Amino acid sequence: MAYQINASVCVGCGACAGNCPVSAIEPRDNKYVINSDVCVSCGACESTCPINAISQQ
Ligand code: SF4
Ligand code: SF4
Repeated sequence: MAYQINASVCVGCGACAGNCPVSAIEPRDNKYVINSDVCVSCGACESTCPINAISQQ
């Protein structure tokens, strides 16, 4: 299961990026996106997001 950021919800705070152990979360267009080629699906980002913009798809 891959983790994804809902771009219509993300406010670009960057908290998730700072908590990713493999630096899979990158800024794009004032928001953040998860690089699925790098993500190891650890789930750390999901609990970090203050507005629950990250979920498994
Ligand atoms: S699930 Fe883990 S590895 Fe994947 S983006 Fe989130 S924190 Fe990074
Ligand atoms: S923590 Fe949530 S709101 Fe902040 S950049 Fe990440 S996905 Fe967006």
